[in-house]
Amino acid sequence: MKHYNKLSEHYKKIANFEHLASVAGWDQAVMMPAGGNESRAKAMAELSVHIHQLSTSEHLGELFADAQSENISAIESASLREMKASWQKATVLPARLVEAQSLAGSKCGHAWRTQRGENDWQGFSKNFAEVVLLSQEEASIRADAANKTPYDAMLDLYEPGTTSEQLDSIFGNLKTWLPDLTQKVQLRQSGQQFIKPTENYSTKQQNALGLDIMKLLEFDFNHGRLDISAHPFCGGTSQDVRITTRYDETDFIQSMMGIVHETGHARYEQGLPKSLKGLPVGEARSMGIHESQSLFFEMQLGRSKEFIDQLVPLVLKHFPDNNPAVFEADNLQKIYTRVNPGLIRVDADEVTYPAHIMLRYEIERDLMNGNINYTDIPELWDLKMQQYLGISTAGNYKNGCMQDIHWTDGAFGYFPSYTLGAMYAAQFMTAMKKQVDVNTCLSEQNLKPIFNWLNKNIWSKASLLTTDQLVKQATGETLNPALYGKHLQQRYLS
Ligand SMILES: [Zn+2]
Repeated sequence: MKHYNKLSEHYKKIANFEHLASVAGWDQAVMMPAGGNESRAKAMAELSVHIHQLSTSEHLGELFADAQSENISAIESASLREMKASWQKATVLPARLVEAQSLAGSKCGHAWRTQRGENDWQGFSKNFAEVVLLSQEEASIRADAANKTPYDAMLDLYEPGTTSEQLDSIFGNLKTWLPDLTQKVQLRQSGQQFIKPTENYSTKQQNALGLDIMKLLEFDFNHGRLDISAHPFCGGTSQDVRITTRYDETDFIQSMMGIVHETGHARYEQGLPKSLKGLPVGEARSMGIHESQSLFFEMQLGRSKEFIDQLVPLVLKHFPDNNPAVFEADNLQKIYTRVNPGLIRVDADEVTYPAHIMLRYEIERDLMNGNINYTDIPELWDLKMQQYLGISTAGNYKNGCMQDIHWTDGAFGYFPSYTLGAMYAAQFMTAMKKQVDVNTCLSEQNLKPIFNWLNKNIWSKASLLTTDQLVKQATGETLNPALYGKHLQQRYLS
């Protein structure tokens, strides 16, 4: 047997255990009663140790060297590159650290669910201190191995190839125009009248509407499902994609577009090539590219006039007894493009969202590089919120630095993916419109050409190319943040 084939078999075995870890993670967030947490945390920690052992098997190093000298195809060569990268990322950490991180993350994340509601920073920070310490240890080990700064080494886990030097430049540029653009849009919208939803929109009706929208977006229900969780996510595996949302019975607006967002993530997963299933090269390219797909659905398509026109009949069908004036296309469009600086990232509008990311990026970068302490976070949070959005979070931990789940399990380096994703999404739409008449597709309810473009240029490519190569092949150039600024200008100020 070719050495390359031995490696593929080994990685497919790892993927099977990751499959189980992912579904158990979904169960923990969606189905599990609170009392099951302690034993689930232990089981998941054990599974993560097992996966870690498989991912760091000593014989892999030799196999890589042998496979390299074999006569392998271009696809196999890309596959080898991704297996090797994943091996290097895994081998560098001692099993002791991996297990400690899994336990500390579960504990912190679980307690956070109640502590957040109680605004209990003191209680939270006892668990969080441990998570930060372990992540700093991880960052420093990775930094030494990759000859990068600690933060860049963590960033590489989510955005291979992206550096904080690039991010400093991207966010540095955003800072020069975003606050001004936000003010201009607010001024322009200040006299705008619209009707807010104020009635009852039952969970059952919202769920049925969500399922219809997923159908419109050609979600494959034979390979996925929709459920409820406190923090919406897209999990499971590419053959069994689990998306979640949460429902507020006084307002259908959030969950409706949240489902469009998660469906974007899901379509990417469902569109990954089956021939590469179980191999690292068959996975999504990066978190930023993953987010580019959800934001392409939610922002580029979802908030366009043409898409909202398609939603109207569906909303009317599912809420026959509610005030229909709320559901008029013009009214929905005003709601979905309303710009209003607020405390909560996940509720933020398209224009102010990057400010929330800028703030988190700066804090997590400095935390991982050891330039600040976790105890500095509440004060820095307040300072930056005032600077970027003009709002104070002093004493408000719940809606300040305790609002997100990400840092509770040590996912430092993840936040920039959201804004990178928004930028890639704008760039993909710009490129797509040169080949596809997107607005006509939407108004004729023929979304196939849109999905075909995404499938051809993004989904089917999985991790065969680097992010820069992928974006360049799809759009003719590597990341161009100016196209994102242009998109915001066009949508909100023209
Ligand atoms: Zn997302």
